[in-house]
Amino acid sequence: MGFAALGLNQQLVQALTECGYDTPTPIQTAAIGEILQGKDVMAGAQTGTGKTAAFALPILQRLAEQPERKGQLRTLVLTPTRELAQQVFASFEKYGQHSELTAALAYGGVSIGEQIKAIKAGVDIMVATPGRLLDHLVKGTVNLSNVQYLVFDEADRMLDMGFIDEINNILRRLPKERQTLLFSATFDDAIFKLSKKLLNQPVLIEV
Ligand code: AMP
Repeated sequence: MGFAALGLNQQLVQALTECGYDTPTPIQTAAIGEILQGKDVMAGAQTGTGKTAAFALPILQRLAEQPERKGQLRTLVLTPTRELAQQVFASFEKYGQHSELTAALAYGGVSIGEQIKAIKAGVDIMVATPGRLLDHLVKGTVNLSNVQYLVFDEADRMLDMGFIDEINNILRRLPKERQTLLFSATFDDAIFKLSKKLLNQPVLIEV
C-alpha cells in the first residue's frame, strides 16, 4: 500500500516521492489513517522507524484543510532535545515543501530574539523544547490558544530529563479541545500517568 492509499493528498505524496519514499513504514501505515480521523494516539516507536513522518504527514494535511486559519499556531511539537527539535522541524519543512504552511523552532542555548522574529511572522507549526517554550510563554511571545494538534516526541526522554514541571505548566496554557499524539520508545508508570492526563481514548500503536 502506498501513501496515497493512506489518505494523504497529492502535494504530500509528491513531496514524499521527491524524498525517495515509496512505501510507508509500519508505524506510518498504522498511525496516519488514525491521525487523519482525529484520534488521539499513543505510539511505541524507536528512532529510525519513520515516526516523525507518521505524525508530520497527517498533521500537515489537516492544517492545509483549513486555509482560512493559515498563520495561526495550530500545531505544537515538544521534543526533549535541540537536536531532535531540529530534525523534526526539518521533516516538517521537507514534507510540507509544496504547501503554504510554515514552521518555527524554539530551543534553548541560543538567542531568543531570532526565534521571536520568526514566530511573529505567523507560523502554523512550532517545534520546541519545554524549557525554551516556557520562556516564550512567560515573556508573552508565544500564544498557545489556537493549538489543535499537540505532539510529544520521545516522551520517555522528556520525563527522564526532568521536564515534568515545564510540561505541566505548558499543558495549563493549551486548549482542552485538541488532538494529542504521544510517541515514546519505552513505557513505564510515569508515561502511563502522563498519557492518562493528556490523551482522550487513545488508539494504541506498537511497532
Ligand atoms: P525517524 O524514525 O522519524 O527518525 O525516521 C528515520 C529515517 O527514515 C529518516 O531519515 C526518514 O527520512 C526516513 N524515512 C521515514 N519514512 C520513510 C519511508 N516511508 N521510506 C523511506 N525512508 C523513510
